Amino acid sequence: MQAGPCILRAVRPSDFKNLSALCADIKVRDIERYTSEWFGRTSNIKVVARPRSVHEVSDVLKYCNSSGIGVTVFGGNTGLVGGTMAERSEVAISTEFMNRFLEIDVSSGIATVETGLILQNLQERLAIHHLTTPYDLGARGSCTIGGNLATNAGGINFIRHGPLRAHVVGIEAVLANGDVLDLMSKSRKDNCGIDLKQIFIGSEGTLGIITKARIHCPSLHQYRSVALISLKGDFTSTVLETLKKAKETIGESLSAFEFIDGEGAELVGPLPSGMDPKYSGFAVLVEASGSASVSDKIENFLEQLPDSVEGVVGSDLESMSKLWHYRELLPVKMASLGHNLKYDISLPQRELYKLVEGIRLRYANRPDVLKIVGYGHVGDGNLHLNVALDPQFERNPSLESDMSHSVYSYVSECGGSISAEHGIGRDKLEQLFFSKPTVVLEYTRALKKMLDPNGILNPGRTIL
Ligand SMILES: Cc1cc2nc3c(=O)[nH]c(=O)nc-3n(C[C@H](O)[C@H](O)[C@H](O)COP(=O)(O)OP(=O)(O)OC[C@H]3O[C@@H](n4cnc5c(N)ncnc54)[C@H](O)[C@@H]3O)c2cc1C
Repeated sequence: MQAGPCILRAVRPSDFKNLSALCADIKVRDIERYTSEWFGRTSNIKVVARPRSVHEVSDVLKYCNSSGIGVTVFGGNTGLVGGTMAERSEVAISTEFMNRFLEIDVSSGIATVETGLILQNLQERLAIHHLTTPYDLGARGSCTIGGNLATNAGGINFIRHGPLRAHVVGIEAVLANGDVLDLMSKSRKDNCGIDLKQIFIGSEGTLGIITKARIHCPSLHQYRSVALISLKGDFTSTVLETLKKAKETIGESLSAFEFIDGEGAELVGPLPSGMDPKYSGFAVLVEASGSASVSDKIENFLEQLPDSVEGVVGSDLESMSKLWHYRELLPVKMASLGHNLKYDISLPQRELYKLVEGIRLRYANRPDVLKIVGYGHVGDGNLHLNVALDPQFERNPSLESDMSHSVYSYVSECGGSISAEHGIGRDKLEQLFFSKPTVVLEYTRALKKMLDPNGILNPGRTIL
């Protein structure tokens, strides 16, 4: 049973005129950008509202709520689980014009922004003050702060800073009925009862639209150093042992630890150093950063590794971004092969790569399966398992549901999560019960019912 969108009606031409009286920027033509996403899926958005103030957001929501029209909340549209994809005829509310950098308190490192601000633009503004965001991701050039908060985005610095929600000092959110909740505390230490803002972080636009945020931002470390190494052997004795060594030798300066398996490395091409990880191996990217030079820490770490390990170090901006580019190219190369079945899961580290091996054993010999790769933020137990399907074959729903079942049953048995960082959206809705007990799903539905009784916000997504 889904949370109550049954009374919603389709958008009518008269709604365009009514909405135009409430929000200055209403689009009904040239809206393809809002009806398609990264994977080429299309959605049923009929009209796009682009508010410039919280009042316009509130008025549009009030109208949709009283008229029983579904609303899709729109940030940068880089989400990977269909969160912005409307199944029924809906209104989209895009935050793109609510994109101002409002304030920075340099001494506390707390930045106040409107949530349509693009992550990279925030990072550039913060860099002027030697600050940065407590998270970073490959989609930084397009994703918005609102989308990041709504998905509690993870990314490459999780190993150092932990989840984004831990750094959020305050938010402003608009409920389905148009009520504006001011949860914009200025203080990081605030134990005045229940911390209501946390229910909006990670709720993927189903409980309210986040319009403003205050985020605690750490110092931008002046010194960085990146090593890319190639390891031969099994996952536990190579990647996990190397992670242990990195923690011991680099300590609190360790800011990223990423791995790509041999299949993935083969697809991206030779490592930037000319090293060639064999099919059975792994490429590992390690980053250290700090307020003093970290090159010696990376050198010390490399010295602790067996002589057979090959590695290359980048300490200037150009060579470091070349090494990062190698890591970030993998999902792009995979997508270019054909449709990808993407699993973004977390598992206890020792169980993590067994899943890739098991899936390969079971499916790799099928003619319609082109490539199976495992990569991800191994320091956080976050595996991205991507399976590229051969475009010469018709999509096969029974293969896809069989594989999903295998993956998520394994995750459930190991006590992992079916969504480590991308959220639930439309794609993982039916699988939620692999990660959440029935009683938890029931209370989540009750919360949705209380805050959005007509079920207008992102219907059919995230809440089962
Ligand atoms: C190349 C690439 C790399 C990526 N790497 C990572 C990664 O490392 N880690 C990671 O966590 N994710 C990653 N992602 C996924 C994606 O970038 C994140 O989920 C991101 O946080 C989404 O932000 P967005 O602004 O694009 O949100 P959208 O895609 O627009 O929306 C995502 C969800 O949030 C809701 N939403 C958007 N704005 C608001 C708002 N203001 N208030 C309430 N709800 C809102 C939407 O309705 C939707 O359900 C990656 C994506 C790509 C394409």
